[in-house]
Amino acid sequence: MLRYQGTLYRPPSEAASLIFQVTLGCSYNECAFCGMYRDKRFRVRPLAEVREEITWAASQPGAETVRKVFLADGDALIAKTGFLLDILEELRASFPNLRRVSCYASPQSMQVRSVDDMRLLREAGLSLYYLGIESGHDTVLERLVKGVDAAEMVRVAGKAHEAGVVLSTMILLGAGGRALSLEHARESARVCNAIQPRFVSTLVMTPVESTPLWEQDQRGEVEHLNPIELARELRELLLHLELEGSVFRSNHASNTLTVAGTLPKDRDRLVAALDGVLANPDGAPFVPDWLRGL
Ligand code: SF4
Repeated sequence: MLRYQGTLYRPPSEAASLIFQVTLGCSYNECAFCGMYRDKRFRVRPLAEVREEITWAASQPGAETVRKVFLADGDALIAKTGFLLDILEELRASFPNLRRVSCYASPQSMQVRSVDDMRLLREAGLSLYYLGIESGHDTVLERLVKGVDAAEMVRVAGKAHEAGVVLSTMILLGAGGRALSLEHARESARVCNAIQPRFVSTLVMTPVESTPLWEQDQRGEVEHLNPIELARELRELLLHLELEGSVFRSNHASNTLTVAGTLPKDRDRLVAALDGVLANPDGAPFVPDWLRGL
């Protein structure tokens, strides 16, 4: 059986995926806003254990319907290439209709993996990474303790591109507070434009317990942007995105507005919709806090 350890996290678009925990926690685990793995000490699970779970899952009714697999936890890409290749081979042999394997990739794990490693893994099935860019603004990245600056984020993302890996990236709205809100949006757009990810999504920065951001919030040091300020920031981001063929979505539960489209085709429509929100905030379809779990 599948023995998930601790809370299991996955991106919204992996809701229908079969999930195997190949690592536990996040090897970096420092991002100020992230509470996903604070309670876990990072380790790579023994190959035999993961293999046992794959064999069990493959023997269950409906295994032939498995098309997507997500490798948890926080940054499975940090595990050794040989270990991941063994798992990918096992997955291909076990699920005949498997189309895609994905994982979270921290910038730190992308620094470690070579382009050749990424290519080998992609050829074996690991074809999509979820990368939290969070911001393209160096001051904001530093505050978030992301561990890399914008230039390094672009560089590591370029390695994935060179290896033919699809990137799904996240931008953290509100992370610049009020003073840096629009700069954060423009710089994030600049970094996205340099990376040209296939998917760009937004989340709203929300302090969660047991994180440094939570402690800062308790001390009154975190500015919470209101829905109108967040809409203005989102508009600025969209306005400056010059993507050549990407899916944009703000469908994570933390968002105050649900926006989705394909860029560049839908950009003007989305910016116009946000202009409408800013012109008439009282009639705007903001998601209430209780629906956002706040
Ligand atoms: S790299 Fe990702 S999983 Fe690890 S602490 Fe940062 S946001 Fe969380």
